[in-house]
Amino acid sequence: MHRDPDADALGSSLGWASYLTKKGHDVTVISPTEYAANLRWLAGMDQVLVFEKSSQQGQCRRKIEQATLICCLDFSALSRLKDLGKVVQDAAAPKMMIDHHLEPEHFAKWMIWDTNAAATAQLVYSLVKEMEVGLPAKEIFDIPMAECLYAGIMTDTGSFRHANVTPEVHLAVADLMLTGFDCSRVHRLIYDNAPLSRLQFLGYVLSQKLIVLPQYRTAYMVLTEAELHKFNSSSGETEGIVNYGLQVENVVMSAMFIERKGEVKISFRSVGSFSVRDLASTHFSGGGHKNASGGRSEHSVNETVATFLSVLPSYEQDLLSVD
Ligand code: 5GP
Ligand code: MN
Repeated sequence: MHRDPDADALGSSLGWASYLTKKGHDVTVISPTEYAANLRWLAGMDQVLVFEKSSQQGQCRRKIEQATLICCLDFSALSRLKDLGKVVQDAAAPKMMIDHHLEPEHFAKWMIWDTNAAATAQLVYSLVKEMEVGLPAKEIFDIPMAECLYAGIMTDTGSFRHANVTPEVHLAVADLMLTGFDCSRVHRLIYDNAPLSRLQFLGYVLSQKLIVLPQYRTAYMVLTEAELHKFNSSSGETEGIVNYGLQVENVVMSAMFIERKGEVKISFRSVGSFSVRDLASTHFSGGGHKNASGGRSEHSVNETVATFLSVLPSYEQDLLSVD
């Protein structure tokens, strides 16, 4: 799964691992980096190895070197694995990609790749259904597995409200719900499970750091390392905050710049026809989806924001023409 894994990266990987395990395979789930605290409850999480942890790196390397198959979920560029990318690239085992991001690299022998899928978890659902054709969901998926896949689909669709929601998404979710899990609990565990500091941090960002440029229908926020420290913010605590920019009337693009560990991580969100992926890939070595992308910069946070502001005029027509 990709670095800084979200609920789709983790949920799809754990769901797929659970299926393969049931089929008698010996499966190890590896994350390149640590993950947000509100995802710790996902079933199987206690078995996930974190490559970045020095105490687990050797084990991760051995598992990858000895593997007969490497499944790559929720990413399609090896750079998304951080330092783990090279290890996967050099591994002898064939790779299988399950992903829904645009512009994939071709490192995998098999690609289950569909940008029309709302979530990688939706692709895992479909794949498992195809492999167990004729069997009802209840006999294929157990509750923990269904919860993992539901968590991925729920978060990648913004709780079933983004433009990626299709009848297939609701049909998949309805089928998973036949296992009998409590979907309200999944929402609560992910969205209503924040430390008080996260809400206080959000209050600070919204009241002090949100800048709106009405002429470009754009909102943006800049957070320095010092501010993150002050609010004791871990990587999970900034997750999702960029979306608040889109709640401002008439705004169609929101950006968040986060200074962390000597680089600037940027998140972009947009609505309708405006593609933040083009902006992220052209100017910020990034990519993702049309309406949700990310990128990074090794320049200072001020220089990075200055670049952003300097390219905005070239996107003015596209921003103004969003319905
Ligand atoms: P987020 O803003 O939540 O980190 O990322 C939003 C989307 O953009 C996700 O689908 C994520 O996979 C993608 N993304 C984030 N950062 C990068 C990046 O540095 N490179 C690429 N290619 N995609 C990214
Ligand atoms: Mn995803």
